[in-house]
Formats: sequence, C-alpha cells, structure tokens
Amino acid sequence: MSDIEALKKELPPFEIFDLIPQYAAAGQIDPEKIDLLKWAGVYPQRPQEDGFLMMRVKVPTAELSAQTMRVVAGIAEDYGRGLLDVTDRQAFQFHWLRIENIPAILTRLETVGLHTRGACGDTVRAVIASPLAGLDARERIDVRPIAAAMEGTLSGNKDFEDLPRKFKISLTATPELEGIHHINDIGFLAHEVNGEVGFDVWVGGGLGAVAHLAKRLGVFIKPEQVVEVGRAIAGAYRDHGYRVNRKKSRLKYLIKDLGPEKFRELVENDYLGYKMQDGPAAPVARFGGSDVLGINPQKDGLNYVVLSTTVGRINPDKARALAGLSEKYGKGVLRTTAFQNMMIPHVRTEDLGALVAELETLDLAPKATLRGTTIACTGTQFCRLALTETKARVAGMIDLLEPLHSDLDVPLTINLTGCSNACTRYQVADLGFMGAQRTHKDGDQDVIEEVYNVHLAGSLGQAERLGAKLKGSVPAERLTEYTDKVISEFKANKQPGESFVE
Ligand code: SF4
Repeated sequence: MSDIEALKKELPPFEIFDLIPQYAAAGQIDPEKIDLLKWAGVYPQRPQEDGFLMMRVKVPTAELSAQTMRVVAGIAEDYGRGLLDVTDRQAFQFHWLRIENIPAILTRLETVGLHTRGACGDTVRAVIASPLAGLDARERIDVRPIAAAMEGTLSGNKDFEDLPRKFKISLTATPELEGIHHINDIGFLAHEVNGEVGFDVWVGGGLGAVAHLAKRLGVFIKPEQVVEVGRAIAGAYRDHGYRVNRKKSRLKYLIKDLGPEKFRELVENDYLGYKMQDGPAAPVARFGGSDVLGINPQKDGLNYVVLSTTVGRINPDKARALAGLSEKYGKGVLRTTAFQNMMIPHVRTEDLGALVAELETLDLAPKATLRGTTIACTGTQFCRLALTETKARVAGMIDLLEPLHSDLDVPLTINLTGCSNACTRYQVADLGFMGAQRTHKDGDQDVIEEVYNVHLAGSLGQAERLGAKLKGSVPAERLTEYTDKVISEFKANKQPGESFVE
C-alpha cells in the first residue's frame, strides 16, 4: 500500500478541515498529515522548507459575481503577494500563503460561495461547466443547474473522499464549440436525438505521463440522470480502480482493461440498477482545444466576450477592473474558462467598442490570438515536481510572437508544461511542449539545462488525437525561435482556413 493510501485509511481525508485551525494556531502543519491538506485545496509550494502554501479554489458552475471577484482579489492581495492565477479547471489559484492565514481565507471564500473542498487530492475535482451555458444560441441545455447539482452531490462527499486518484468531470453545453470531454474521467456532452435533449457520456480520459483519450459509453441519458450516472461511475471507480501503483490508478487504466462496454455493464448492474438507453455520438467541435475567444452573440441579443489572459495570470488590480467592467457593461457576473481565460457575458452591442477598448488597456484583449490559445502550468516557480520554468517563459514568448502572427486565420494552440505530468495538456495542442532537463559536461562540471520535448498536432474536438512526439528536444532559450519557425512554416504552407492538425 502506498504512503498516501495508508494515510487515507488513517484519517478520512476531509477531516483535515477540522485540523486546519490547530495547525494555523500552532503555525505548523503535522508533517505526517501534510499530504491530506490537498483535500482542502492546499499544498506546499516549492521550496517546501520555506513553509509557503498554494491554494486552489473551485468556482462552482464557473460563474462568479463581481463582488466575489473582488473578494478573490482581496485574498490574493492580503495573503498571496498579489499573485492570482485562473487555472485550466476554471478555478483560482493563490500562492505565498501561510498556514496561519488559511482559516481566515476559507472564511472569506465561504462568504461568497466559493470553496476548496476537493480542489486537489484523490477525490472529485472541480467540475468543468461550459462557460457558454445559458448564453449561446447553439447550446442544447443550460448545464449550470446540473453542474451545481453535481458539485453539490459529489464534491466534499465522504463517499468519494478516498478515490484511487483524482477524478475529473466536465459538462459541455455546446459540443460543436467545446471539446474538453476527451481528457476528463467523465465527459458529458449535451446533444439532441430525435428532438430530445440528453447527454452523450465519455469515460476514461486523462493525460499525465501516459495519455488516454476518453471513450464513449454509447449511451444517451436524460438531463435528470446526469448526476446519478456521475455518482455511479465515481462509485465504480472507487471500488474497482487500481490502488497499488499510483501511476496506474486513474480511471483510464480500468477503462483500458475492461473496455467501455464491460465498464458500462458494471456501472449499470452494480451501481445504477438499470440499463442506460443506447445513443449516438454527439457532434463535436472542429477546434476543441481552445476557447471561443472574442465577441459572440447570445441568444437574447446581448453578447458574451471571452477575453485572453496571459497564461491565466492576472492580479488583484486586473481582477477588480474586470469586476468593474462586468458591472459597467454586463450584469455584474464573470465566468472562468477551462483554457485559463475569462468571460464577461451580457454585453449590449452598442457597448462592445468601449468594453474592448478598456480590456485592451488591461492587456486582456478579447481576440482570437496566440495569447488566448496558449496555456502553461505552474512550473518551477512554485511546483515541487517541475523541471522547467513555465509561465514567465511563455508570457515572454507570446509578447514576441503575437504581433508577428496576428494574421493566423485559425486558432493555433500552444500548451506548455514544466514536467511530464501534463497539467496543461501538452499532448492535445497544435504545439505541445513538455518540460524536461538534460545534463551535459562543461569541463568537469555537470550542467543541467532546461529543455522542452515537442509534441506536434495533438487535438481535441473533431480531429481528436495525441500529438506526435518528435525526437530530441528544444533548449529552453531557443523555444521562442523554434515556435516562431514552426508557425511561420505553417502559415507559409497552409490553405485558407486549414488548421494545424489538418
Ligand atoms: Fe507541476 Fe508538472 Fe503539473 Fe506543471 S505539469 S504543474 S510542473 S506537476
């Protein structure tokens, strides 16, 4: 049994919340229990001996009020040295926290309906809810109530506090526009069959060092079944998932061994107690690996504006400015996306010019450019597993390359990580960069060099495929040059509208 499996048996993981006030009062965390803090969304940042913590905060249904955004900004400012990240699971992430401050931060979050239960750890992580829900005319159903019910039922639920590994769920409202289901443990895609709206269900997606794209269960379920099916699949994974080797514990390995048909039977027979209706595949997005960036019409005549952050990094001033803009031009709500970007919905057409101008001054332009289609993980700045620097490197690269390639006529996705764990999905981008290290000799000295392995033409959406890994690697200091060359070559050889994968 691994250490973490033994620890989970010793203390039910969500009970860590009861110990946090003691740790805070003592200014010290019991080193034996420190890994359980993940279930409270908290874990040590690099270097661990400095005692600083990071915290991930779930944003249920991916929608938040301007007031909530201000509270999040205040926490980042008061406790987190002004650093605030939007993650690729529509969450917020703080850094530089002290254990002494965690109870106060949790209380502040609670006042605005945010929480950290299961934001990390071997449990149900943030449920990705379509950021287009309730807005886009092409959506099949507003998935926010289902996402809220899923989150309310599974998140922080003691029945699911001890899963073999993390467990990720996504809900897609508009499959023609969004393609995140391939890389979640369960992906629910709304679509219409014979005039009835329901969900196509995919299971066993997950990246990490060994990437698996999800498989269809071959069912069509009603909206009111989604939470019970989610619960049943999570239960089957809890009881049948592998626990010996953590590297082989995600649901994807069980699906690989059983196959989706046998897994479906297991779920139906032992967890649901009924057979799900057979169903066809939902139509999926042509470009699934990025947001619907820019200005988009809503079904009620207003507009939703998806703006580009730079690798998810905002700060309290920008967060407050966004809150203000959402009140001035929208209805005082914002959304987070699964590609480290944000959205201001409910904007009148006559206000779009003014809003865009204000966003541009914040460096948050709502344009379908490289800035909006590039994501990067935490990297060596804070992540203990990282081998390379990530966010600052990519931000510098985008600043240089974006003006050179503003003429791209299709989204081009760049996903970069600081190690093989694939938190920002290097396998499913047009250009995927995986951080690694290479050692060479300089005289008698071993010199460690940061490099990136290259995975080309991975894709979510219609062209679902994992990127092809190239031989060799690119030294970190030549990454911008390399990327520029690849994009230039692509532009020189493509047909109008042709994507990188095509
Ligand atoms: Fe850390 Fe690696 Fe995940 Fe990046 S991919 S956040 S470096 S574990």
